[in-house]
Amino acid sequence: MNSTDWLDAGLEHIWLPYTQMATANPPLPVVSTEGCRIRLADGRSLIDGISSWWTACHGYNDAHIRTAIVHQIERLPHVMFAGLVHEPALTLAKRLADLLPGDLERVFFTESGSVSVEVALKMAIQYWRNQGQTERTRIIYFRHGYHGDTFATMALCDPEEGMHALFADSMPSQIMAELPITPEMTAAFARVLNTQAARVAAVIVEPLVQGAGGMKMHDAECLRTIASTCRANDTLLICDEIMTGFGRTGTLFACEAAGIVPDIICLSKALTGGTLPLAATVARKHIFEAFLGDDPGMALMHGPTYMANPLACAAANASLDLFERKPRLEQVAAIEQQLSAELSSCREIAGVADVRIKGAIGAVELSGAIDLNGLRQRFAELGVWIRPFGNVVYLMPPFVIHEAELSTLCAAIHQVLGERAATLAN
Ligand SMILES: *Cc1c(COP(=O)(O)O)cnc(C)c1O
Repeated sequence: MNSTDWLDAGLEHIWLPYTQMATANPPLPVVSTEGCRIRLADGRSLIDGISSWWTACHGYNDAHIRTAIVHQIERLPHVMFAGLVHEPALTLAKRLADLLPGDLERVFFTESGSVSVEVALKMAIQYWRNQGQTERTRIIYFRHGYHGDTFATMALCDPEEGMHALFADSMPSQIMAELPITPEMTAAFARVLNTQAARVAAVIVEPLVQGAGGMKMHDAECLRTIASTCRANDTLLICDEIMTGFGRTGTLFACEAAGIVPDIICLSKALTGGTLPLAATVARKHIFEAFLGDDPGMALMHGPTYMANPLACAAANASLDLFERKPRLEQVAAIEQQLSAELSSCREIAGVADVRIKGAIGAVELSGAIDLNGLRQRFAELGVWIRPFGNVVYLMPPFVIHEAELSTLCAAIHQVLGERAATLAN
């Protein structure tokens, strides 16, 4: 077979995510990755502006993570995690407990973000049930939220803007609220909790930045309001830090910026530094203790086949080493400054509604309909991997990106949006 025979043969048999297969441009064949670059089969390389769906925080092919995975595969690639445990998972659990605020200290491992949210929902609902409160089964979520693609998590995504309106009739019905940003919205949120508390198990929020629902940002004060309102109404709080966790917004975990401790936190995306699938649902002590008792029915009945995969746990431990040894949070602060300097002026381009920056996230929101296929293709032509969704063009680069590479990414956004503005004007 020559170098791209696999491409033509395989494209006939693959089904791609979030893609209209009839009209989308053909996907780009990748042969290797290194640093912040994605190398294509035709020899070109693209600067990755979005860290492979927000995972590759240390860039690609980091030698320390690679060595840890190789070392682990030689001894113990996988073993089931019921009745058996292993060093990589237990070391990782202890390290996460030490890094997380407060008494977030019991770690349940899964293999994807969506499933870690499903586990958090089960924990929250059963927490109440184990105490005889069987009515508390509903979840409150926020407009513009995104918590995953499975059925329970789809039901927590923005019903209008989310990708999942199609399945509304097959999903559990949950309660949507507005983020308490203004005093009026705070009063409205308190009213929702107050009137619904008896049937609500938990409130779920993506702290500081709502990602896939549109890169909407709120401040620490809003988060504190959510936490205090939950406490006042005796409702659990779940922080979905699958996107924000591990430094992305400027602190190791976004909830730290507000000084709050959720009852349950979900982690995934950057947990293994973008190398292997792994997620963790971490519960506070009182949540875990509500599952203890003589009745076997009080136990948490969940257990993905590949949970706590040793390779993934070894990669996550190596990624945490890098957070200890390298100035990752300083790098995030530098990226934030550079994004402010080089992306903010997109506001002046016609058709741009807003520019938002937080930590190593820069989002440009467009007004009007956008030609996603055209924009994506144009970015690739310019040698950058930037993949707008909805009406947002955004950057979430690896934390190790060089200043010049980040400038190239920002310049590409200016150029492509400028070209679009010219087309709109005609
Ligand atoms: C990506 C994401 C998820 C879903 O994670 P998967 O691994 O894709 O299932 C859930 N919540 C947030 C905030 C995310 O960014």
